[in-house]
Amino acid sequence: MCGIIGVSGTNHVGLDVYEGLHAVQHRGKDGGGLVSFSDGVFNGPFMRDGIIAEAFTEGEIRGLDGAIALGHVRYATQGGRNKLDAARDAQPLLFKHTRNGAIAVAHNGDIRTAPQLRTDYLAIGGFFQGTSDTEVILHNFAKATNDSLDSLLTQTLEPIQEGAYSLVMIVDGKLVGARDVNGFRPLVLGKKEGGYMLASETVALKRARASYIREVEPGEIIVVEDSGPRSIRPFGVRSEGKQKKCVFEYAYFARPDGLLFNTNVAAVRREFGEILARKFPNLSTDMVGAVPDSGNDATIGYCHASGKPFEIVFSRDHFAGRTFIDPDGEKRAAKVRAKLSPYEGLEGKVVTLVDDSLVRSTTSRELVKMLKEVGVQGVNMLIAFWPFAYHCKYGIDTADDGELASHSMNPEEIRKYIGADFLGFLDQAEVLSAMKKVGGLEGFCTACSDGEYPVS
Ligand code: 5GP
Ligand code: MG
Repeated sequence: MCGIIGVSGTNHVGLDVYEGLHAVQHRGKDGGGLVSFSDGVFNGPFMRDGIIAEAFTEGEIRGLDGAIALGHVRYATQGGRNKLDAARDAQPLLFKHTRNGAIAVAHNGDIRTAPQLRTDYLAIGGFFQGTSDTEVILHNFAKATNDSLDSLLTQTLEPIQEGAYSLVMIVDGKLVGARDVNGFRPLVLGKKEGGYMLASETVALKRARASYIREVEPGEIIVVEDSGPRSIRPFGVRSEGKQKKCVFEYAYFARPDGLLFNTNVAAVRREFGEILARKFPNLSTDMVGAVPDSGNDATIGYCHASGKPFEIVFSRDHFAGRTFIDPDGEKRAAKVRAKLSPYEGLEGKVVTLVDDSLVRSTTSRELVKMLKEVGVQGVNMLIAFWPFAYHCKYGIDTADDGELASHSMNPEEIRKYIGADFLGFLDQAEVLSAMKKVGGLEGFCTACSDGEYPVS
């Protein structure tokens, strides 16, 4: 997963991109990068390992002022996953000299046709600097024939139609945003100081004090002209029901204090929790606790609907880092313990825990163990999502199918494996009903639930 920001025409484009990147840091912490552009000259790209707050100095950011800037935070998916690859495949990517001029790109998503396109370009003498799927986009641009901007953009994106992409670009000296026709990944448009801002999430607009205008629609390309944003839709418009927006953005990925696909993320998560309460009305428990922070909103929804008391069961260590990325299973379990620690006084209680998702089951298993070790009498685990049974091909860095608990085990087998006294999930219809109820939304990808990949 990645986070992207593009800004043009504000008083300090570099600073606005930098602020925005902080707010989408949760979308990728392997590395970050920035590039700015003014009067035909690029400054950067500057790419660093690690998190934005530690990667760049104030002086560097102030030096990035100009007419347009792009930024990116990266969580490697198709490209390499080790540190070296993270640095090499950092974005924005920039080709300064092609027959169609310069192009800079920052990308979120996963381009299914990239390996084939790469092979094709290599065969005709093209070259690549890194392993990321994004690099084919720049080659598409360099190869395009025609001098109108709209035609160039169409030819650049046409070969990756079957992919998942949200993009911010600098082409022809203009800021350009684009979203694939399925709408897998989010992208929003905002404004500030007579200029415009594109971002993965509305929280980035808030952070940079830009105001939200609307989301970029699936299949839409936005070109920010001097006169304001202009839209083209060369690949047609897919009816909402046929789109494939990512449900896991609601369940886990997007920040809860923003809008996603124009709908309040926290409200959807609370609805997931309310559905859990209606689905399992007879669970007896002394208290209900969230798995912080990702389970917070679903837990509140569950407590509202069930009338059961919300308690804090785990304290979260904010310096311990995230648990999911570590490829070593043992270390992952240790990191859960490093991150979450049970409150005192839980002996003899029955505790219900609500989490946003169960992927490998490491978190649930470790938390149940920890509670039992301190004398908790019973643990009910409630998961505010469907069983995550198939890996994502569209930008979420989930494990291979074999590592996903729900790929090989049914809920009862997982319950036994994690040592819980009860384990409950939502099903596909329930999850989809939440977005319908809260935002009137339809048209979601269900591949991680049923393996029906819309694009293979
Ligand atoms: P598990 O421990 O079962 O593998 O994963 C479930 C836990 O990891 C949940 O608490 C969820 O919030 C978190 N999680 C789910 N998906 C991701 C992800 O893509 N990245 C990170 N860092 N955490 C995730
Ligand atoms: Mg979590």
